[in-house]
Amino acid sequence: MATLLWHELSSGELADLGDRGTVAVLPIGSVEQHGPHLPLGTDTMIAESVAHAALAGPVPPAVALPTISVALSSEHTWAKGTLSLPPGQLLSLLDSIGSAVARAGLKRLVFLNGHGGNSAALRVAARELRLSHRLLTFVAHPHTPADQGGISSEGLEIHAGFRETSVMLHLRPDLVRMELAERCVPEWLDRYRLVGFGKPVSFGWTSDDFGKSGVIGDPGGANAEAGREAFSEAVTAFQSALAEIAAFDL
Ligand SMILES: [Zn+2]
Repeated sequence: MATLLWHELSSGELADLGDRGTVAVLPIGSVEQHGPHLPLGTDTMIAESVAHAALAGPVPPAVALPTISVALSSEHTWAKGTLSLPPGQLLSLLDSIGSAVARAGLKRLVFLNGHGGNSAALRVAARELRLSHRLLTFVAHPHTPADQGGISSEGLEIHAGFRETSVMLHLRPDLVRMELAERCVPEWLDRYRLVGFGKPVSFGWTSDDFGKSGVIGDPGGANAEAGREAFSEAVTAFQSALAEIAAFDL
């Protein structure tokens, strides 16, 4: 089955989608430093690839909106190449897109978010769109970020670590420079019981608080096979989520 892409349809074709209960999926990533070994667009490539692969499989009717690549990356603006919007601009963009989705007659909108730094704003947008356009809105991740309840077995998996690097070795090996990969795991955070990533008290940070490489995790040992497995798990998980989302109601 071919993935249905919003921007490949005509306006008339799009008008039929609402009647069929079609779910709108908006992949969102980032353009931000990902250490010396990964490309800036890592999160965007992963979010879009998972969304498109999921929609090509056995899922309820769904259409992928054009991916938002530049979002909230202020924690990485110290590094050259990072592109970031002020939070208000992202909220305004999401409101414009959500309102177009509602005007097209669709009732369900899912953000598939590849960058943890976007999550808080997406939850705000999800509520605002519910309020202003009565949409049923959802926030999903290809992999739940480690600082938001996600678990990882290969050390801290916050940024450019084992899993993300492996997935990129699967998707775009031509863009990964493993010879430059550096480990940077802030083990000193273990000194704190309550404050930390995924602990009861979160904290504000920028990625250079942990080291010069911009990595927060351990890309060592990353490989394409682990990436293929992680990618296929993410696709399957999103397909299952879509089945529930299509049936969900308030
Ligand atoms: Zn990333």
